[in-house]
Amino acid sequence: MGDTGELLAEGVIFEVTDTHKHGAAHAHTGRLVEGRLARGDVLGAKVDQARRQAVVLNHSATHLMHAALREILGDHVQQKGSLVAPDRLRFDFSHFQPVTAEELERIERRVNGAIRANAEAEARIMPIDQALESGAMALFGEKYGDEVRVLSMGDFSTELCGGVHVRRTGDIGLFKILSESGVASGIRRIEAVTGENALNYIGETEKNLSRVAELVKAGRGDLDEKVAQMVERSRQLEKELEALKGKLASAAGSSLADQAVEVNGIKVLAAHLEGADPKSLRDTVDQLKNKLGEAAVVLATVKDGKVSLVAGVTQGQTGRIKAGELVNVVAQQVGGKGGGRPDMAMAGGNDPAGLTVALAAVPGWIREQLS
Ligand SMILES: [Zn+2]
Repeated sequence: MGDTGELLAEGVIFEVTDTHKHGAAHAHTGRLVEGRLARGDVLGAKVDQARRQAVVLNHSATHLMHAALREILGDHVQQKGSLVAPDRLRFDFSHFQPVTAEELERIERRVNGAIRANAEAEARIMPIDQALESGAMALFGEKYGDEVRVLSMGDFSTELCGGVHVRRTGDIGLFKILSESGVASGIRRIEAVTGENALNYIGETEKNLSRVAELVKAGRGDLDEKVAQMVERSRQLEKELEALKGKLASAAGSSLADQAVEVNGIKVLAAHLEGADPKSLRDTVDQLKNKLGEAAVVLATVKDGKVSLVAGVTQGQTGRIKAGELVNVVAQQVGGKGGGRPDMAMAGGNDPAGLTVALAAVPGWIREQLS
């Protein structure tokens, strides 16, 4: 990433938003804020030092991490992409499975060890052959000149690099990995922060942890245990709630039996059961069949705009009324369809508006079937 800052002369301010290398020349991209520029003018450069320093820390840390990755994961690790921004660094590399949490911790510790070793960063210009012989890492596929710049930090990291680096590794202060992910087949990505940004990240994480501990009324030391307990408790409560819903539905089912009407000698019941789920609908239909003797029953429930229907026909009547046909007579009027066995069938629909009318029409439909 190029430097930013200002190019200045008497009465002239050129704001630099990026810099690039074009052969031997350095191109400055930006905006003329004040004055005029003419060919041959001489300008002084004022680099945004705070931003450059943040980039420099991330750049040197990238070299250290590259070395740590090869040491811990293996020599197959090659740089596939790299972004060195002021606020973070991003490094893509070849590796054929996710980097484990344990490996990430070792990589982080290795880089922080190299930072604390506080080795001097040394840049030397030498012939390319000599550089490669000395074990300097070069980027595969990159074109290098006859003479190259070799950047080494202690005996931990030696790479061909033309960029700006820290004076000593200790300048980086702290290295913290934010994430590890896959970007393509066989290519992993690590994002990390250094220096002040690493401290800010740890500070934020600490604050979050304290907030969560406060919310669940636990100490930070036994937070995981407390959250595990809460998750388990909530699972139990959900189970109990399901069981209670079932009981509620069957209680409602018993009182429903009284609403059955007599049609040509059999009991017919079509009703809306509020708060039930498909399973408790089925259980209730079974109970009603036992209770009513010769009967045809269809129950409905509505949840989140979806209608669930269950129809049941007692064994002695399945020759005359099919549960599948019964359930579909109602389902068609609530925008759905279904099916099942002659004595038990289910359906769904997505138009609850038609449900009341559809249920009211059931005794009439049964009468037609029986006559
Ligand atoms: Zn570099």
